[in-house]
Amino acid sequence: AKTAGRNVVKLYDETMSNQAIASVTMAANLKTAIDRHEFSLYFQPKIDLDTGKIKGAEALLRWFPEGGDPVPPDQFIPVAESTGMIVEIGEWVIREACLQCKRIHELGSPDFAVAVNISAVQFKRGNLEHIVLDALYVSGLESKYLELELTESLLLEDEYDIKGQISRLAAKGLTFSLDDFGKGYSNLGNLSKFDIATLKIDQSFVFAMFDTTQDSALVEAIVRMGKSLGLKIVAEGVETQRAANILGLLGVDFGQGYYWSKPLPVDDFICYAGIGKEA
Ligand code: C2E
Ligand code: CA
Ligand code: CA
Ligand code: CA
Repeated sequence: AKTAGRNVVKLYDETMSNQAIASVTMAANLKTAIDRHEFSLYFQPKIDLDTGKIKGAEALLRWFPEGGDPVPPDQFIPVAESTGMIVEIGEWVIREACLQCKRIHELGSPDFAVAVNISAVQFKRGNLEHIVLDALYVSGLESKYLELELTESLLLEDEYDIKGQISRLAAKGLTFSLDDFGKGYSNLGNLSKFDIATLKIDQSFVFAMFDTTQDSALVEAIVRMGKSLGLKIVAEGVETQRAANILGLLGVDFGQGYYWSKPLPVDDFICYAGIGKEA
């Protein structure tokens, strides 16, 4: 680090500048990652807790830079968002998810639904409606099999007509779920104004369920309030049979987590799910 002299403001320290360099480098690499086919879409099953059957999958993005280590989404998505590149990357995700879901239908699982994570940036400057409808058209996937996962902060945005964007897509048959529920400025009252069908309880609440009794009461309260608004409830981060059982008893409709499967490459997922094997 620079030694700050008298009356001289210390402009940077090494850690900050290394971080800045890392994120500029990452941004540059991200720019070419689509063209180089370095992204891959993984599927993680969503399980109906009543029947134990697979209802669909959440599509999760993976980045395998050529000649480098895989970069976790928690690291590159924020960079993709701040640079706006999430619009183009997200478009690829939506298209790929629709194509793979349609393929799963054709393999003999016609009720299978896919859920895609959508960043707030895609709503703000992504021409999202057009991209989604185009991906459905190109893939031939019926709109009701595409679910979009949103985060709570998006619903607090008062510009960009978020409510209108959601309701126009909902009118076309798409479904919406609220991701990471409980982590943010949870306001269930506000929720009823939006065309949202499902609440996803954040995994931190599912993990905490086993720490104290109070935390299980929290999950219970979320379920009760969600149900009173007519919402379906999904729990993420289900790692054990015990968690799956308890969540089912609390009235949670669907579960997702390592107990069933971690996110898998789509071909492995198809194999895991036994898709195409039933007929
Ligand atoms: P998320 O939407 O909350 O996704 C759930 C995360 O929990 C995933 O992490 C998943 O792999 C992980 N997970 C699933 N089951 C378990 C479990 O039983 N235990 C534990 N400990 N973790 C579990 P992942 O794939 O690393 O993704 C992290 C985040 O990156 C996602 O969180 C989402 O916010 C974002 N993300 C991933 N793909 C996309 C994408 O295509 N677009 C956008 N905008 N964001 C994405
Ligand atoms: Ca999600
Ligand atoms: Ca989460
Ligand atoms: Ca149930």
